[in-house]
Amino acid sequence: MTKDEANVRINELRDLLERYNREYHELDQPSVPDSEYDARLRELIELEEAHPDLLTPDSPSQRVGGEPLDAFQKVQHAIPMLSLGNAFNEDELRDFDRRVREGTDEDIQYVCELKIDGLAVSLRYENGQFIRGATRGDGTTGEDITKNLKTIKSIPLRISEDETIEVRGEAFMPHRSFLALNEVREQDGVEVFANPRNAAAGSLRQLDPKIAANRNLDIFLYGAGEWEAGEFDTHSERLQYMKQLGLKTNPEWRSCKDIDEVIQYVNEWTEKRSELNYEIDGIVIKVDSLDAQEELGFTAKSPRFATAYKFPAEEKITKLIRIELNV
Ligand code: NAD
Repeated sequence: MTKDEANVRINELRDLLERYNREYHELDQPSVPDSEYDARLRELIELEEAHPDLLTPDSPSQRVGGEPLDAFQKVQHAIPMLSLGNAFNEDELRDFDRRVREGTDEDIQYVCELKIDGLAVSLRYENGQFIRGATRGDGTTGEDITKNLKTIKSIPLRISEDETIEVRGEAFMPHRSFLALNEVREQDGVEVFANPRNAAAGSLRQLDPKIAANRNLDIFLYGAGEWEAGEFDTHSERLQYMKQLGLKTNPEWRSCKDIDEVIQYVNEWTEKRSELNYEIDGIVIKVDSLDAQEELGFTAKSPRFATAYKFPAEEKITKLIRIELNV
C-alpha cells in the first residue's frame, strides 16, 4: 500500500471508528459487534505504526471512550480513567509479558481478573461516606451519576473505615435481570437492549434514578483512583483491603507467578465463562507490584502494566442462557 493509499484508508477508518464510538459510548446503541470494532481499530493501529508521521493525537487509537452527555453535571477525574491495551491470543500475551519484563528489573507477578462487560465507574468516599459516582466519559471528564449509583444495593453508602478514597469498577446487569428486562420491553413493544452492557449503561445514564432502581444492577470494584488510605506494595493487597472496607470485589481473581499461569487462567475462563450469571468479555492481566506499575507507566490511552485478553467472538452467551431458562 502506498503512503497516499494508507492516508485515505486511515481517514476512512477514523471516521468509521468515531461513529462507532459515538453509538457505543454516547448513545449506548452500537450498530456493529465488538469484534468488528476491534478489527477496524487494529487495522488503524497497524497502518499508523507503519506510517508514524500520519499519527495524530485526535486519532481514535489515542482516545478513550466518548464525550460526556450535557444532561449530566461533569466530573473531572483527578487521575484519568484509561482504557486497556488488548491481546487476542497466546502470542500477544507473551509479547505483553516480554514488554513488561523489559520495562522493569523487578521480579514480576501478575494478577488476573475477569473483565466485566459493563460501564466503568468511579466512586468517591470522603471520610468513609459515599459522596459521588461518575462515568469514565472521555477519561478525564465523566458524568455525575451519583443518584443512579445509589440505587445499586451492593454499593455501600458508608465503608467500614473513615477513609477518603476513590475506587473504580464496573457496574453491570446480571443475565437474569437483562433477560427479564428485555422480556418486558418486548411485551411493551419497546426496542430491546442489544446486550447487558448496553442495558447497564443505558440504565445508569438516565436522569430519573427510578429507572436505574428498577433494573437490578450490580457492581464489582477492581481498582483505585485518588487514594489517601494506607500504603500498599501490591494491587492484590489493595484489592483485599477494598473487600475489607465492604466494597464488592470479584472473588475469581488469582495471583499468577508467571505468564504460563496467566495463560492457564485465560484458558480456564474461556471454557467456564458461560457458567457465570454476568457477562465477561475477557480477562484483565495486571502487574501486581505497585512500584513496577509506576515504573512501567502509561501510554496516552492505557497503562503499560496491564492488558485485556479479549475472548474470541462467539454466539452471544445470553442466547444460550435464554434457551437454558426457557424464556
Ligand atoms: P476495553 O473494554 O477493551 O478495556 C478497558 C475497560 O475494561 C476499563 O475501562 C474497564 O471499564 C473495563 N474492565 C472490566 N473489568 C476490569 C477489571 N477487572 N480491571 C480493569 N478494567 C476492567 O476498552 P474500552 O476503551 O472501555 O472500550 C473498548 C471496548 O468497547 C472494546 O471491547 C470494544 O469492542 C468496545 N466498543 C465497541 C463498539 C461497537 O460499536 N461495538 C464501539 C466502541 C467500543
